[in-house]
Amino acid sequence: MTNSNLLPLRQIFSTYQTQQKALPSFNIDSFEIFQSIVIAVRQTNLPCLVQLTAGEDKYFQAENLYLLVQKARLEGLPIYLNMDHSKDPTRLLSLVKLGFDMVHLDNSLLDYNQNLTLTQQFISQAKSINPNLLVEVEFNHINLINDQPNPNSYTAPSQAQEFILTTRADLLAVSIGNLHGVSFDYPEKLDLDLLSQIHQKIPETFLVLHGGSGISSDQISLAIKQGIVKININTDLRLQFKKSIKKYFSQINSERIYDYLNPLVSDISQVARQKLIQFSQHV
Ligand SMILES: [Zn+2]
Repeated sequence: MTNSNLLPLRQIFSTYQTQQKALPSFNIDSFEIFQSIVIAVRQTNLPCLVQLTAGEDKYFQAENLYLLVQKARLEGLPIYLNMDHSKDPTRLLSLVKLGFDMVHLDNSLLDYNQNLTLTQQFISQAKSINPNLLVEVEFNHINLINDQPNPNSYTAPSQAQEFILTTRADLLAVSIGNLHGVSFDYPEKLDLDLLSQIHQKIPETFLVLHGGSGISSDQISLAIKQGIVKININTDLRLQFKKSIKKYFSQINSERIYDYLNPLVSDISQVARQKLIQFSQHV
């Protein structure tokens, strides 16, 4: 059950890399956030990924998201599936069998050499199930916004080259000053020169920017120019959800739950639409 007119994800990433554009990868916390993404993709006809962290998977269940995505694809909407930051290879292999387009194996808390060996093993196993699968890897742990950025944890270009050559991974999550979450007091500052060095070492690899929420649009544009082709967006959707749900529950009095959720979905879809347009604009 899928639409064969959809381009393979690898082809979209390659085209975007050449055209200096990036795909947003939206985390799906709830059905309403998924609905918002569908509306934004329908309005723009621009491709994106939807993804789940382990916590989101536990609540939402990736199998449910898979079915919702198949339904959207029947409509021709270019929405692709990823599992985000998974430390559980067994869970990932079951999602690869189910039909996920890509998975992110995050062994960044392990020792570098152990990570290298386990990631290499996982990729050969996963690609024997689906040779078209894309795999994202990570060896520099990307911290939360409350931690101060630590240049010692930034991605070293030579190590990136070794990790990609050994594991044959398709995407690399880089650590260049990006943090998970949004801080209004200390906006993130990306090391774009380092990003450019990483891109030069592994020009074929699709580079991923985690913690895309809260980074200025100027920095995002420059990062896309230096090789970023996937930008993860979670907090911006969650913040809009919290803001809108408070607003509509205080303004509306109804027994029909969708009376609150319809305007909320519309608000979140505006956030998603803005990201889709911004990341796909060649500047
Ligand atoms: Zn992340």
